[in-house]
Amino acid sequence: MNKWGYADHNGPEVWHELFPLANGDRQSPIDIITKAASYDPSLPPFNVDYDPSSAKLIMNSGHTFSVEFDDGEDKSVVRGGPLHGSYRLRQFHFHWGPCDDYGAEHKVDGRDYPAELHIVHWNSEKYSNFVEAAQKPDGLAVLGIFLKIGEHNKNLERVTNALDNINFKGKQSSFTNFDPSCLLPDCKEFWTYPGSLTVPPLLETVIWIVLKEPIEVSSRQLSRFRSLFSTTETDEIEPCCMKNNHRPIQPLKGRTVRSSFS
Ligand SMILES: [Zn+2]
Repeated sequence: MNKWGYADHNGPEVWHELFPLANGDRQSPIDIITKAASYDPSLPPFNVDYDPSSAKLIMNSGHTFSVEFDDGEDKSVVRGGPLHGSYRLRQFHFHWGPCDDYGAEHKVDGRDYPAELHIVHWNSEKYSNFVEAAQKPDGLAVLGIFLKIGEHNKNLERVTNALDNINFKGKQSSFTNFDPSCLLPDCKEFWTYPGSLTVPPLLETVIWIVLKEPIEVSSRQLSRFRSLFSTTETDEIEPCCMKNNHRPIQPLKGRTVRSSFS
């Protein structure tokens, strides 16, 4: 394996060869067992305060696509919930699978969702940039939002339309004036637990906030995600699509999942 990916020869089952942390004690995603989650009445609601002017660009990394934000100052932040202080918005991206039956990373009582949105933030009160924060146990906060198949999601239109500009790995395109809070569900009840990045280097530095209520996406919108290429325009190898980019669930290893609701 010289580059990680999601195929048999370089996928999650062999990531540990290059990234031993794959077998660590604080890995993500997990299956959230709702009965085992402990209701914590002292958990305040979390709130996002996003400034649409901090949206910057959309890019295809070959593993997913992401919308990146200007994180040079505290323009867009999340606070509250399990977090101490404010965490600055860095980017959001999605994970999905080869069909509409599965593709999210977290599960709830063994249930699969077809996709999952990750909104990534870093602790800007304690650390000076994303790279530094990503090394610290309280450095990152990721909001995880499940997608289920349903109505066409109008709020996702700008994102899916922009994919036409970034079909190939390595492409990026300007993407401005966007507030990702339009992608959050109405109900903000959540589970929270200490975990990791779900892609190499799998750093165990993420405070996860996984929302209970999914948002809807149409099957057609989700199939647009899968038609992105994981190869560059000039790769000599056969073009390959991003059909699947989710990591399977990892052992809980004694961690407690807390819930904001009873
Ligand atoms: Zn992710």
